[in-house]
Amino acid sequence: MSRNVSIIGGGVIGLVTGLSLARSTADSGTDYQVEIIEKEERVGNQSTAVAGYGIRTVYRHPVNLYLAQKGLQFWSTLSETSETGFRRNGYLFLTNDDEMSSTLQRERTRQISNGFPAEIRTPVDPGEFSTEEINRYRTGLFSPVSAVSDSARTIESIRHLCEQSGVRIRTGEEVTDIEDEGTQCRLETTESTEWADTVVNAAGVWADEIAQLTGETLPVEASARKLAVLERTVDPEMPLVVDVDTGFYMLPGHDNTLYAGGDFRHERADESYSRLLKQYGSEAYDGISDAPLDELRAGYYAMTPSRVPIIERTGNIVHVCGFSGHGFMQAPGAASVVKRMILPDETNVLREELLSSDRTLSVTDIQF
Ligand SMILES: Cc1cc2nc3c(=O)[nH]c(=O)nc-3n(C[C@H](O)[C@H](O)[C@H](O)COP(=O)(O)OP(=O)(O)OC[C@H]3O[C@@H](n4cnc5c(N)ncnc54)[C@H](O)[C@@H]3O)c2cc1C
Repeated sequence: MSRNVSIIGGGVIGLVTGLSLARSTADSGTDYQVEIIEKEERVGNQSTAVAGYGIRTVYRHPVNLYLAQKGLQFWSTLSETSETGFRRNGYLFLTNDDEMSSTLQRERTRQISNGFPAEIRTPVDPGEFSTEEINRYRTGLFSPVSAVSDSARTIESIRHLCEQSGVRIRTGEEVTDIEDEGTQCRLETTESTEWADTVVNAAGVWADEIAQLTGETLPVEASARKLAVLERTVDPEMPLVVDVDTGFYMLPGHDNTLYAGGDFRHERADESYSRLLKQYGSEAYDGISDAPLDELRAGYYAMTPSRVPIIERTGNIVHVCGFSGHGFMQAPGAASVVKRMILPDETNVLREELLSSDRTLSVTDIQF
C-alpha cells in the first residue's frame, strides 16, 4: 500500500517529521511518500535558522520532559554518524535571588526523580564550569546531560538524510488552501493542486494561519526573540549558561564564537538591544562587555499558553506546533508522536488530551 503525506513547513519540525515517516516505510509495510512543501527558497530558513541549538532536560511538564529525553537520544545518536557539533556541555542555571535559589533546589529534585542527573552549587565559583570566567553567583543548578549542537551543520545533516530516505523537498512553494474531503485532503499551493492522504501542519509561527484555512484555530502566538553572535572565542566545553534573574543566556556557538540572547522585554533587533544584552550579560560574564557584535539574528518563538507544544490530529490533518522556544530539542520526540498518529495500529505513550489545542494544563513550563 502507498500513502502520501504532505508536510507544510521545512523547518526542523517538518524535516525531522519527514525523516521519521520515510524511515518507517520499511517497518510498517506501507510505502510512505513524503513531501515537504516550504515557501522559502531553502529549508530551515525561519526560526530554525535563528535557534541556539541548546537541548535541555530541565522542564516541569511531563510532555516536555518526555520530548526532551527523546530529543537528547536522537541528536546524540545522529552525532555518531553526522558532523552536527553535538556536545554534552550541560546547562547551568544561575541566581542570586533567595526565592529562586529554593526553586532551583526543587528543580534539582524533580530532575533526579525524572532520571536526569542534576547538581546544586552554592555558591557557584568563577571559572568552575569553563576556562572562561563566569561570575560568582549565590546558587547554580547544573544539568550535565543537557547539550548544544551546531545549527547549520545539524540542519544540513537532516536535510541530507531526508533526501537519502526519499523525502521530496519542494522549496519556493506556498500552501494557500486546504480542504479535508474525508478520504483525502486537497491542497492548493502557488504551483499546483494536489491530494494527500495526510497533511502535517508544521508551519511554526504560521501554524494558526494554516489551521484557519481548514476552519480551525490554534492558540499559538509569535513572540519576537534575538540571538547575538559575538566576536569572542569561548571554551567549546562551556555549558549553556542562563541567568534566571535576568533571562540572559549564552552558549558556545559555531567555531567557538560566543552566542548570547535573552528577551529583556525588548522587541527591536537593533543597537539598543545589543546594549541591553551587554548590560545584563556582564552580570554573568565580564568578557561580554567589550566583545564586538558580529551578527544579530531575529526570529520568533511560537508560544502556547502552557509552553507545551500542540500535537493533534483532526480528520486527515495533524498539527504539530507551539514549541515555545524548544523546537530543535523537541523535534525528534514530536516527530515520533506524529508518526504514531499517522501509522495504523500505533499508540502514543503521551495521552492525546495533554497535546490537544483545547486542553487545560495545570503546569506552565519554565521559559527563558
Ligand atoms: C532566538 C532563538 C533561539 C532559540 N534557541 C533554541 C534552542 O536553543 N533550542 C531549541 O530547541 N529551540 C530554540 N529555539 C526555538 C526553535 O528555533 C524553534 O522552536 C524551531 O525552529 C521551530 O521549528 P519549526 O519547524 O516549527 O518552525 P520554523 O523553523 O519557523 O519552520 C516553519 C516553516 O514553515 C514554513 N511555512 C509557513 N507557512 C507556510 C506555507 N503556507 N506554505 C509553505 N511553507 C510554510 C516557513 O517558511 C518555515 O520555514 C530558538 C528560537 C529563537 C528565535
